[in-house]
Amino acid sequence: MERERIALACTKCGARNYRTTKAKKIGVDQQRLALKKFCSTCKAHTEHKESK
Ligand SMILES: [Zn+2]
Repeated sequence: MERERIALACTKCGARNYRTTKAKKIGVDQQRLALKKFCSTCKAHTEHKESK
């Protein structure tokens, strides 16, 4: 299966703290990932969303 490379960016400061991949499903409306992750810039757990 094809994997899409994405970065997870902090929604507060925009720092791209994490890199991951996700399965690419063609023809399926994909939800954007949103995860609570630790941001070293904010020094707190914040929501991180996928960005290219
Ligand atoms: Zn941040």
